[in-house]
Amino acid sequence: MNTFSGIAASPGYAVGPVHPLRRRSIVPQRRPVPSEDIPVEIKRFKKAVGLASAQIEDLVARLRSELGPEEAEILSAQLLILEDEMVWDATLAVIRLERINAEAAFSSAVWDIAARFLEIEDETFRERVKDLQDVEQRVLRAFLGDLDSPLDLPSQPSVIVAVNLTPSDTAALGRNNVLGFLMEEGGNTSHVAILARSIGVPAVVGLKGRLAGLKADRTVAVDGTNGAVVLDPDQSIEDRFAILQAEALIACEKLSGLRDLEAITPDGHRLRLMANIELPIEVDEALARGAEGVGLLRTEYLFFQHQTIPSEDEQTEVYSDMVRRMAGKTVIFRTLDVGGDKVSDYLGAKREYNPFLGWRGIRFSLANRVLFKTQMKAICRAGLAGPIKIMFPMITGVQELREAKEVFQEAIAELQANSVAHVGEIDLGIMVETPAAVLAADLLAAECDFFSIGSNDLIQYTLAMDRGNARVSYLYQPLHPAVLRAIKATVDAGHRAGIWVGICGEMGSETRLAEVLLGLGLDEISLHGAALPKVKQVIRWTDYSEAQSVVENILKLATAAEANQWLAKYIEGRKQARLEKETP
Ligand code: PEP
Ligand code: MG
Repeated sequence: MNTFSGIAASPGYAVGPVHPLRRRSIVPQRRPVPSEDIPVEIKRFKKAVGLASAQIEDLVARLRSELGPEEAEILSAQLLILEDEMVWDATLAVIRLERINAEAAFSSAVWDIAARFLEIEDETFRERVKDLQDVEQRVLRAFLGDLDSPLDLPSQPSVIVAVNLTPSDTAALGRNNVLGFLMEEGGNTSHVAILARSIGVPAVVGLKGRLAGLKADRTVAVDGTNGAVVLDPDQSIEDRFAILQAEALIACEKLSGLRDLEAITPDGHRLRLMANIELPIEVDEALARGAEGVGLLRTEYLFFQHQTIPSEDEQTEVYSDMVRRMAGKTVIFRTLDVGGDKVSDYLGAKREYNPFLGWRGIRFSLANRVLFKTQMKAICRAGLAGPIKIMFPMITGVQELREAKEVFQEAIAELQANSVAHVGEIDLGIMVETPAAVLAADLLAAECDFFSIGSNDLIQYTLAMDRGNARVSYLYQPLHPAVLRAIKATVDAGHRAGIWVGICGEMGSETRLAEVLLGLGLDEISLHGAALPKVKQVIRWTDYSEAQSVVENILKLATAAEANQWLAKYIEGRKQARLEKETP
C-alpha cells in the first residue's frame, strides 16, 4: 500500500482499477503477402488513404467556412502529405519489393521520410514530422475502419490516470466508466477539476511524478475530499471508502428535501441558485438538485466532442434540446471560450507561450466572426425552446463588448433576412473575469444587461497564477483581499447601473464561502449541481444582515490566511450554536 497526496480537486470517494489514459498509437504488424495478393494490398492502401482524406477534407471545409483559409491551412498540409508522390511511391515500392501488408508498408515509408526530415536542421521540417505522424495514425485508423477518437477509453468503471487531459479528451470520455480522476498536472480550477465536480466524481490533481508508470493492473482509492490517494488499498481501506461514499450519499439524500424550496435567507433576502453545465447529460442532474436555471453553459464541449465544428443546425439542435429540457427555466449561454487550457488543434488555436494571456475567449471569437455569428444564430434559434441569455467570456473592455454585440446584431439580421424562426430580444451580459473588466465595470455595466463573475479566471489574472499549474496552485486564494475587493467592486458597479450580478466560477461551489458570497450582495450563484443543496441550506440558515457583517469583518483582514482562519472559526461557532439549538 502506498499513500500520497495532491490537490483535492473534486470531492468524493472511489476505489477502482487504474486506467492510464493514453492516446492509442497503432503499430501495424508486418505480415508477408504472396505476390498474387499484392494488388489487394495496393487496393487496401488506396481505400485507407481515401477514407482518411475524406475525413480531413470534411474538416478542412468546415474550418475554411467557419474560421477562414488561414486556419484551414494547418490541416490542408496533412492532405498534401496524403497526396504526396513521395509517400505514395515509397509505400507502393515497399509493398511490391518487400511483399508486405499495406499498413506496415505505409508506416515504414512514412517513418523513412520522417527520419530524413529529422536530419535537416530546420524547425519547419520538424513541424512536418508531427504532421506526418498524425497522418500516419489517421491512415492506420482508417485501415481498421475506426476514424474516431484516438483515445484508449476505459471498458470498465475505472479511475482515469493521466498527465493532463485536454477538453477534447474529457469530452470523449464523458461520464462513461469514469469513477474518478488522478492527474499529474492541473490545479483546482483546471478544466478537469471542473468537469469532475460537475459529473460528481472525485479527483486529485497536481500529483507531479507520482503517477509515472502506473499500470492498469493496479487498484487505487481516491479521496477527492482531502486530496489523498492510496495505491493497492487493503480491504480495510476499501471498506472505509465504501462507508464514506455511502455517508456522502445519505447526506445528499437528506438535502433533497430542499429541492423545491427557494434560496431565501430567514430575513427575506432572495438569491438565485443556478447550475453550471458542460455536457448535455448534466441537465437532469441540475434539475434534480433544484437548479433555477443554467447560469453558465460552457459551449466548448460541443465543439471539442466531435473534433469538428458543428454546423448551425447541429448546434441549434443540441442547444434547443438543453433549453427544452430545462422546462421554462433560463439558460445562460456562454459563447465559445477556446484558448487558455481549452485548446483544440483543429480549431486553429495553436499552443502559445502564454496561452492564458493569448488568443482566448472573445478574442478568438471576434477574430473568427463567421464561427461566432453561426454560434449566436444557433443560440437565438434555440431561444424558441425556452428563456435564454447570452454572455461573452474574457471581456477586457467596452470595445470588445460593442463588437460582440455587433456580431449578435448581424446574426439576428441574417436570421430575419432568411426568415429563420428565432428569438431576437435576448439579454446580453459579460463574464467579469479580468482585472480590466473589474476596473472598467461601470463603463461595461452601462452597455450590457448583466455581469457574471468568472472567479476562476478572475483569481488567476488578479493573483497572476496560472490556474493549470500545480506549482502555483497555492495562490488560488478566493479570500485574498484583492479578490474580495474585485468581487465587491463588480457587484457595486453593477448595482449602481441597475443590472444584476452573479458569480459562476468554482468559488460558488464551495459551501464554506456561501455566507461570504451572500454578504457580498451577489444576485445569483451558479454552481455545480452536487454543491447546490448544501449552499442553499447555508443561505436558508443565514440572515443577510449577518452575512453582510461576515464580509465586513473579512474585508478588514490583510491576508488570505487570516481570512480563511477567521471564516473557519466563524463556521465552527455557527455549527456549535446550531447543534446546541437542535439538541434538547
Ligand atoms: C471562470 O473563469 O470562472 C469561468 C466560470 O469560466 P471557465 O472556468 O470556463 O474559464
Ligand atoms: Mg473563465
